[in-house]
This record gives sequence, structure tokens and C-alpha cells, in this order.
Amino acid sequence: MRKLSSLTFRERATLGWGKLRRFCLAHFRPGFVRESLARRVGQCDRTGACCHLMFSCPLLDRKATPVRCTIHEIKPRVCRLFPIDERDLRDRNIISPDVPCGFSFVPREEFLKQGRPAARAAAGRLHVEAIDLPRG
Ligand code: SF4
Repeated sequence: MRKLSSLTFRERATLGWGKLRRFCLAHFRPGFVRESLARRVGQCDRTGACCHLMFSCPLLDRKATPVRCTIHEIKPRVCRLFPIDERDLRDRNIISPDVPCGFSFVPREEFLKQGRPAARAAAGRLHVEAIDLPRG
């Protein structure tokens, strides 16, 4: 995991933009998020990298192995949804280039090859209550 002090201005700007993008998507684009998450495969490996984007979250218990969110049950929607799409993986890879995220995404074109109705159905099957995404 890289030290935040080693980040270039450009990398910081990328991470800042990513935070804003995720906030907007998570709160105002539920349809997009739902489709993206339907393409997502894998699981959280608890590397904690997403808790160090731009700054280190003070709510992360770094002494635990693996690291642990101390407010996991009530953590913010942006945390609950991470990663929303490939851009988020690129952002977290700035912080943790050597240890990959446990999640990956089926490419959108491939996902849509099954046809729009099937893609919509896959998105509709997401357990939105578990990931705190408004229905939309
Ligand atoms: S609230 Fe929890 S999940 Fe969100 S950044 Fe902080 S430690 Fe990570």
C-alpha cells in the first residue's frame, strides 16, 4: 500500500474526482449503479485500499487482521457500493498497485450481449437492501 504522501498532484486529483463521481452515482444514478453492480464479480478481500482514497478513513481499524471498518453495519452508501465500476478499481489501484481488489467487472459490451431485457433482469436481481441502493 502506498503512502498518501507519495501521491502526485495528478493522482490526488484523480482520487478526489473519483470520490465526487461515486457520491453522485450512488445518490443520483441508481439505474447506472445497478447495471454496473450486475456486471461485478468476486468479493471484498478486505485489503482496505478503498478506505485510503485521498485520505485514510479514521473509522478503519488498521490494527485488525484483516483490516476492519468499525461502522460496517451502518457505513455510508459510497463505501457499501465500492467499487461501482472499473474506474473505481483504477482509483484504488493507485493506492494499492501490488495487491488487487477481490472484485472485477464483466466488460459492459459482453454483459449487454445477453440482450437488454436479460441485462435489466440481472440488475433487478441485485439485493439492493444489502447494498443500500435506492430502487430506481
Ligand atoms: S467508513 Fe468504513 S468502509 Fe467507509 S472508508 Fe471508512 S473504514 Fe472504509
